[in-house]
Amino acid sequence: MKKIVLLGPPGSGKGTQAELLSLKENFVHLATGDLLRNEISNRTEFGKEVKNYIDKGLLVPDGLIVDFILDYIRKNDLYNKNVVFDGFPRRNFQAEKLEEELSKNGIGVDKAILIDVDEKTIIERLSTRLICSGCKKIYPGDYDDDECFVCHNKLIKRTDDNIDVIKNRIKVYREETMELLDFYEKKGKLFRIDGNDKPEKIFEIIKKVVL
Ligand code: AMP
Repeated sequence: MKKIVLLGPPGSGKGTQAELLSLKENFVHLATGDLLRNEISNRTEFGKEVKNYIDKGLLVPDGLIVDFILDYIRKNDLYNKNVVFDGFPRRNFQAEKLEEELSKNGIGVDKAILIDVDEKTIIERLSTRLICSGCKKIYPGDYDDDECFVCHNKLIKRTDDNIDVIKNRIKVYREETMELLDFYEKKGKLFRIDGNDKPEKIFEIIKKVVL
């Protein structure tokens, strides 16, 4: 069973590609941001703790996020499933804790795929995109309906998809998350993909790397 980490700046298409792997190749899509936003909408204690960080485009502290995600892996017994990690890890410390957890079960991350996109495209995509309020499917800004074609819930804008927060998220990616490229490169697990192409084309490349 495969464990794949998707890396890349916000708006690079990690969520879209993870969703394709889940729909077409039987992967569990572990969408960290969606899990956190669910906690916020369910008004849990954890949701209250993380909301401030998300609203500002800052990373949730490692201690909080690591416990939350490792707990999710254990509760859902993800060890024996194909999993695509979307949004976790986001720092070396998180990556080390993930390796530790998986290695207790004799497994590890198989591949880390960087989907790279230039900054102008990121800002354009994030400031116009919408997500489904129900199933969280991502829609590009030029989508010409206001409801999700899968579950028919309303399309909404993510509260952190506004220009100031987007700029902060890009900065945080550069300053805190890009260290993961070295982490996985040193292990010989990193693959780089040009994310400026069409999603279907990128998916074909990802399938070749993963399957
Ligand atoms: P995403 O939906 O992946 O863009 O994540 C949205 C926000 O959730 C990020 O800007 C962070 O505030 C928070 N977040 C998601 N994943 C992590 C992580 N692995 N570590 C810390 N914060 C995270």
